[in-house]
Amino acid sequence: MATAAQPEVKPGLLFIGGKWVDPSSTKVFPTINPATGEILTQLADANERDADAAVQAASRAFRDGPWPEMSAADRAKILWKIGDLIDKYNEDLGTLETLDNGKPIFESRQVDLPMAAEVFRYYAGWATKIHGETVPVRGPFLNYTLREPVGVVAAIVPWNFPLLLASWKVAPALATGNTVVLKPSPWTSLTALRLAEISQEAGLPDGVLNVVTGSTVALGQALVRHPQVAKIAFTGSTRTGQEIAREAAGTLKRVTLELGGKSPNIVLADADLDGAVRGATVGIFYGKGEVCAAGSRLFVEKRIHDEFMHKLIERTKKMQPGDPLDPRTRFGALVSEQQMNTVLKYIDKGKDEGAKLVAGGERALLGNGKGCFVQPTVFDAVQNDMVIAREEIFGPVLATIEFGDIDEAVRAANKNPYGLAAAVWTRDIAKAHRIARKLEAGTVWINTYNNYDPAAPFGGYKMSGYGRELGMQALESYTQVKSVWVNLKD
Ligand code: NAD
Repeated sequence: MATAAQPEVKPGLLFIGGKWVDPSSTKVFPTINPATGEILTQLADANERDADAAVQAASRAFRDGPWPEMSAADRAKILWKIGDLIDKYNEDLGTLETLDNGKPIFESRQVDLPMAAEVFRYYAGWATKIHGETVPVRGPFLNYTLREPVGVVAAIVPWNFPLLLASWKVAPALATGNTVVLKPSPWTSLTALRLAEISQEAGLPDGVLNVVTGSTVALGQALVRHPQVAKIAFTGSTRTGQEIAREAAGTLKRVTLELGGKSPNIVLADADLDGAVRGATVGIFYGKGEVCAAGSRLFVEKRIHDEFMHKLIERTKKMQPGDPLDPRTRFGALVSEQQMNTVLKYIDKGKDEGAKLVAGGERALLGNGKGCFVQPTVFDAVQNDMVIAREEIFGPVLATIEFGDIDEAVRAANKNPYGLAAAVWTRDIAKAHRIARKLEAGTVWINTYNNYDPAAPFGGYKMSGYGRELGMQALESYTQVKSVWVNLKD
């Protein structure tokens, strides 16, 4: 395994009120490089008291600091600068993300970080375009609305796209004038800490962005329960999302939930087969399959099944895991040993259920043999009601299901509690649009997979959550409307 000079972060400290501060206890926890099993550094294990300190700092910054008085144009400049600094530090940030998460350095530097920078610039553009309206009310009155920030936002993010998913929450929250407490996943906290430093360099006032790291569920729960937190912006598993929704009811917080998925990828017989094979592999193996919108259920029309599978297996076998720090690697290490074991258990389950393993299926040993590498895995002859077709595996495991006609495929695709994304491959464009309407998913891709853009809304139907991130839609959940009445009588 290649080694990389470790870029500077401030391990063991929390970023609260514009300063690096000691946590209230001396407890620390390790963050591990999943490609080697080595400890990268020790992080502060923040508790409820630290959560409270971060919320108090965000609350003060929202009420009394320069942030609420700042013009939208000045806020926009700071957001734009954060985006530019993410670009400037692309190399270091990319190394951190790869060391922490196991994703190929190619993905960190060329996909995640440029998009995170773009998200900040996209919302910088929105800051000056958020305004209220005048309302034609009855009588001698003027009524107008103000679009105001909600207050303190707690952004709770998972480990698969650590900085990118943080940007999806932090950027619109700041653009609309809120203040933020960011809580990264215990497995991947390093780039969130660097983001704190970057935001300071960009001129963000103290307390507007705070970052707390911790190994326990109690830290997230403390943010969710805190009476001074106005909104929870959460990305993570459906089970945690349900807990958060229940818990947030106590203080009636606003909640947006970006949750899990089991997204169907449907290939019709008239599709461009080579394109669809590429799409199927990108759909499931990009990001090692640790992607909420991964195309983990592949529906293939019977007529083309054998030819398609032959091409798919060939392509999959060429995709072997490699050293994440090597710029040629396209398939890295899973995020942790725990996640690797979960994925391997699902692979065993698939075999037990009678699905046909046609590619991969094993842990891959490379480097020092301690890395969390799993071969890209394809099952054929899967039934839609098998566990590997129903549950989110969150790893590089594809379940292929054969279908006879398109109605059957759409019915089966929709017969799943999740509804995050879906795709259809066909040359018949009218059919493609008809199917897009029938699929119960927040995103539908036609003849493509895994496209994202800061301007395109993203979020779930059904158990994949509610609320939308990105696009103008995200602004809604970070603002509230005030109706102001003025008496115009003499
Ligand atoms: P997770 O739900 O275990 O954790 C997500 C975050 O919530 C972490 O920061 C965690 O520490 C925190 N957390 C855990 N329990 C909490 C609680 N009770 N209260 C408050 N915070 C709590 O998810 P994960 O394993 O980190 O991430 C994988 C999951 O995320 C997958 O299910 C995946 O589909 C989902 N995901 C969804 C999207 C999307 O946009 N829909 C994107 C990426 C990942």
